[in-house]
Amino acid sequence: MTTKLITSNLGYPRIGKNREWKKTLEAYWSGKIGEQEFRVEMADIQLQHLQSQQQAGIDLIPVNDFTFYDHVLDTAVMFGIVPPRYDYDGGAVPLDLYFAMARGNAAAPACEMTKWFNTNYHYIVPEIGSLTPRLTENKPLAAYRFAKAQAGIEGKPVIVGLYTFLKLSKGFPAADISEVAARFLPAYIQLLQELQQEGVTWVQIDEPAIVIGLNAENIALLKTIYSGISAAVPGLNLILQTYFEAAEPLEALLELPVQAIGLDFVHDGGANLEAIGRLGWPEDKWLGAGIIDGRSIWRADPDTKLALIEKLALHVPLDRLILQPSSSLLHVPVTVQSEGKLKPAVKQALAFADEKLTELRLLASAAGGDNGTAEAELAGSREALAVFRALPERGRRDVAEQVRRLDELPDSRSLPFAERVKLQQDKWRLPLLPTTTIGSFPQTAEVRQARLKWRKGVWNEERYDMFVRRQIAEAITLQEELGLDVLVHGEFERTDMVEFFGEKLGGYLFTQNGWVQSYGSRCVKPPVIYADVAFIQPMTVKESVYAQSLTKLPVKGMLTGPVTILNWSFVRDDLSREEVAKQIALALRHEVQALEDAGIEMIQVDEPAIREGLPLKAEDHENYLNWAVRSFRVATNHVKDTTQVHTHMCYSEFNDMIGAISAMDADVISIETSRSHGELISAFEDHDYDKGIGLGVYDIHSPRVPEVEEMTQNIERALRVLDAGQFWINPDCGLKTRGWEETEAALRNMVLAAGNVRKKN
Ligand code: GLN
Ligand code: ZN
Repeated sequence: MTTKLITSNLGYPRIGKNREWKKTLEAYWSGKIGEQEFRVEMADIQLQHLQSQQQAGIDLIPVNDFTFYDHVLDTAVMFGIVPPRYDYDGGAVPLDLYFAMARGNAAAPACEMTKWFNTNYHYIVPEIGSLTPRLTENKPLAAYRFAKAQAGIEGKPVIVGLYTFLKLSKGFPAADISEVAARFLPAYIQLLQELQQEGVTWVQIDEPAIVIGLNAENIALLKTIYSGISAAVPGLNLILQTYFEAAEPLEALLELPVQAIGLDFVHDGGANLEAIGRLGWPEDKWLGAGIIDGRSIWRADPDTKLALIEKLALHVPLDRLILQPSSSLLHVPVTVQSEGKLKPAVKQALAFADEKLTELRLLASAAGGDNGTAEAELAGSREALAVFRALPERGRRDVAEQVRRLDELPDSRSLPFAERVKLQQDKWRLPLLPTTTIGSFPQTAEVRQARLKWRKGVWNEERYDMFVRRQIAEAITLQEELGLDVLVHGEFERTDMVEFFGEKLGGYLFTQNGWVQSYGSRCVKPPVIYADVAFIQPMTVKESVYAQSLTKLPVKGMLTGPVTILNWSFVRDDLSREEVAKQIALALRHEVQALEDAGIEMIQVDEPAIREGLPLKAEDHENYLNWAVRSFRVATNHVKDTTQVHTHMCYSEFNDMIGAISAMDADVISIETSRSHGELISAFEDHDYDKGIGLGVYDIHSPRVPEVEEMTQNIERALRVLDAGQFWINPDCGLKTRGWEETEAALRNMVLAAGNVRKKN
């Protein structure tokens, strides 16, 4: 007897097989296409995504997961949540206002952007303030109609749950959340009623904020929201969807009046399954079982997954099980089919979005008893994994031995900061409030084309090197002319701060088209750690030494730190992340040594991604931070006392980890602050942070050039709480996404602002 298990997807990548989505957005922003053409092209892309899922045989296909920028921003504008600094008079938010909120415009800076839970996706933070929510347009309804009309799909609208939306928003005291929820509920219910009216069956309500943890107040709030909703839309099947961690306490969710609950059985550390075993599963609910990893790129082991389904089936009847990925597939590339260059042993071990949907279908057939069709595919899957697991580079003795001996390495610099800082002051003789940048300068079309020519073999190595040298030389001249105090070489030779290192380390492989969205149109192509990571030869010495040869001012060496390399790579799933971080740290330790040996004695080791690796649950933070900090120290703590180690982090929200940041023991940290409006600065002050701090005095995510006065105020505000002697002045982040004109203008203003403040101190 065969049972039909329902398969579902939680969200499909937006960017398109060939990043058509990104290209369309950028064409519109640059004025190459108008709004009408933009909408037509986007509809085309949206349709392709629906069809791919239809072809994969998925039963519940998500709609409204598609967006023009970000789904949280969509939710905000749908409810008319537009901060008063923009020109808006109610009604559906026009496209250009929508983009202005995301990217800023001449009149107003952009909304804050921050990380989506523990991922490298960034959402736009809604600013609710005293605004009254109204439904200005029903985007899920439009998406549902589109899928039905264009592809005959009975779509499952996906919306951000009200609880999560409010948890991610700002502009009201946290204690007022219930009142704000009460203000929202009528508009939220109206949205769902319109869906019900249309004949929608399933609605997926994403509530990932649940997994962070629920106290009694949170539980009461969820009850209020969901009783309100469910009473108003008895005709809808509501799926309360959680992901990225265990939903605890599960008993609280089981009591909510929803028809289905979606749980992550991959990233929950086993807690969801354990809770179901303990509590049983209510007869009136479906279980959305997130069994395929929505965050990894590896083929699933079918036997492990079937065993999991069997365990679930002890508590939930098969016809009440919905098989789905653990989260939206937003976090993985579109299809392995585009990868023509990988060796078969590796390629066969990969599964991107489309392949994951196929895996789901296969598991559903096999678990439903349809062994005939499934068996051959299952065997193929087992074989592919066996070949991959046996690759010798995945079990190197030398690497294992070094990692084993890592604990014997010294754990700190030879002198504590308070002592080495004096030696460093003597050596470097920098002015008060030294100015610098974060590393990269504009990656212009010219730079990208040159790299492409070299990659394609049109240019030989020497010609490309010459090109990079000329860029470096121009950047050095400009920085001297602008009056910056500590220079950078500009990172022209780098595509991306992780890929560049991956290409030079052992253990990595590269996809041709494995892009994922990071924020807005910005996509990243994470390199893949498929084997043991090891140092092969110096990676950055050539460019740094050349840059330093052109100037008497210090030029910072520029590396990406171990935790960021880890967090921005797709990582093998047979070793712990800690173990892999240690392998990377040991490799970087060699590179730091090579730089120092070559006379580069200011070395910046960027860790912008340290925060995003932080586990979602507070009780897991300490362990993560311990090994993350240890990895950074292993990479950097062997330098001379006079060598100045810098680090850089972006996206603020470090308030809860300043202790760890301090323990990294970098001599100078540069950090984003402009978008967090200074909240962070006082956190450093509270912590008596005594090392150098580079204050991000302007937002590099927007092309806007801030006035001298604005930056002067930013600096002065910071100096009210922090000591001028420890202060550095820099932009928020690297400048590679900016154009030269705005970069030059902004840096010129920044140096003037620093000068103004210096005069007063
Ligand atoms: N050094 C890097 C750059 O300037 C840092 C980038 C980052 O923090 N994301 O591009
Ligand atoms: Zn940054």
